[in-house]
Amino acid sequence: MTCHLRVLGCSGGIGADLRTTSLLLDDHILIDAGTGVGDLTLDELRNIDYVFLTHSHLDHICSLPFIADAVGGSRDKPLKVYGIYETIHALQEHIFNNVIWPDFTKIPDAKHPFITLHLLEIHEPIKLGAITITALPVDHSIAANAYAICSDTGTLVFSGDTGVSEDFWQAVNQQKQLKHLIIETSFLDQEEVLAVISGHLSPSLLASELRKLDPNTCHPDAKIWVCHLKPDGGDAIMQEIDTHANNLSIKPQKLLRGLTLSF
Ligand SMILES: [Zn+2]
Ligand SMILES: [Zn+2]
Repeated sequence: MTCHLRVLGCSGGIGADLRTTSLLLDDHILIDAGTGVGDLTLDELRNIDYVFLTHSHLDHICSLPFIADAVGGSRDKPLKVYGIYETIHALQEHIFNNVIWPDFTKIPDAKHPFITLHLLEIHEPIKLGAITITALPVDHSIAANAYAICSDTGTLVFSGDTGVSEDFWQAVNQQKQLKHLIIETSFLDQEEVLAVISGHLSPSLLASELRKLDPNTCHPDAKIWVCHLKPDGGDAIMQEIDTHANNLSIKPQKLLRGLTLSF
């Protein structure tokens, strides 16, 4: 069965027409809960049964409290939220703490809450019907993970936020039939110092990272998509990526809100 990933948001910040990271997989699985979620209808929000988070930074989780609030009361089962320990702990401590937002893990009561929180281990596959979702390691400024999403026919890897990483590529190169790689590039080359200290990539860092991708992992039509561009870098970041991409076997393209990737 072919899977479809709809890009609700893929920007590294906000501004007119920009939405932060949120990807909808086959209508019922959300990967990150950035501002793109706000464009969904109430029925579409109600259809979401699972949320997989890459990390607890606000641009990736900010819509989660609102989903619980908007449709928690009209669903017949809790929304299941998955993340690594640090991500789940941050949600409990800093978001659903009855200060920033009500604790929807206990509302209306602890036995029938609007949301439930679930721990993920890196490399542990979670099977949901025909889809398998596995957290992969990355290196960001806080604990974070990527995801490999496998259907019967291929794999999509989403880096989330990451800087230079060896473990990530080792895990990517173990995938089969990689059809789509979505990877971040947040900053311009002139901001490389900032990229490194904040656990992100610049165009030249992206190019050197992509040389770690084993071509044998890739499907013949594999595509590489760039996301999380900072709003004021925008097209200039893509131009720099183009200049570095000459000797790469797959030319990276800019991921756009509204695209649907099939795999
Ligand atoms: Zn981040
Ligand atoms: Zn981010």
